[in-house]
Amino acid sequence: MNIRFYPYTLELKRPFALSAGSRTTTPAMMVEVELEGTVGYGEASMPPYLGETAETAANFLSKIDLTAYSSPVALETMLRYVDGVAPGNNAAKTAVDIALHDWFGKKRGAPLYRLWGLSLSTIPATSMTIGIGTREAVRRSVEDAVGFNVLKVKLGGENDRGMIESVREVTDIPIRVDVNQGWKDRESALRMIEWLSTKGVEFVEQPLPKDRPGDTAWLRARSPLPLIADESVVRLADLPRALGVFDGVNIKLMKSTGLGEAYRMMTAARALGMKVMVGCMTETSCAVSAAAQLSPLADYADLDGALLIRNDPFTGAAFAGGRIMPAEGPGIGATRL
Ligand code: MG
Repeated sequence: MNIRFYPYTLELKRPFALSAGSRTTTPAMMVEVELEGTVGYGEASMPPYLGETAETAANFLSKIDLTAYSSPVALETMLRYVDGVAPGNNAAKTAVDIALHDWFGKKRGAPLYRLWGLSLSTIPATSMTIGIGTREAVRRSVEDAVGFNVLKVKLGGENDRGMIESVREVTDIPIRVDVNQGWKDRESALRMIEWLSTKGVEFVEQPLPKDRPGDTAWLRARSPLPLIADESVVRLADLPRALGVFDGVNIKLMKSTGLGEAYRMMTAARALGMKVMVGCMTETSCAVSAAAQLSPLADYADLDGALLIRNDPFTGAAFAGGRIMPAEGPGIGATRL
């Protein structure tokens, strides 16, 4: 099997603001694997705060040698090999994982969700993200979110109550809140969550810094709303530490090293009695289509990543009826334009 890769810059439709800062582009690395005339597509999306860059991804991917692998592909063996090439590099590993899964599904002529025995009927509604901004910017974003039945509002900035009030001036649909570790004090976090619970908020994602599990457990014991881990849980090995600290976990391909481990995280989280969310970074329809294949296993979905960029080089999973639905094509169900 051959592998090739090239950098790509995702151009955001709007500057993306959250508690850690604002940006207008996201660096990505596209990966293709090819064997017997079938091409599998994958993608690494690398928001700067996660520490990977086009350089680190190219350096990692240049070490990947798949020439020893031939059909039928031993997918699990290959994923273990990729994971062992170097530590870290989670998004770059994800790009290879997605491409291998895509190739695997294409050779079997079916979308991955069907190969996994999943049903489209259990795909949950997806949320549209509302970034931190002025009252006018928030109102505009909410008015743009046509067809969505739930919003994900970024908090942890200077004016959290104002953000929620701005949304509520426009719509009364359910809100999910993502603080991105932005609250620093557990007492004021609890007071804010108590207020949020009167504003039609479903849950709060990553309210406190990831290195504060004790304070987060304290908060969870008193919080009227469920707490969902994002930054605190990257890979499968992090999951046991979230038990008793969070009510659920936001699983993202770019954190988990790909579909293989994300699938295991979803089943493990459910076995531990935790809620399961499938999320994404700003990504093209390549990685979002891959995540959509897993979404029948989730309680909550946040797969708006491809809707936030204006230079999507793929078509695939599409927004319909408030949900991101996989395309019917084989593998990840994405087509290169
Ligand atoms: Mg988050």
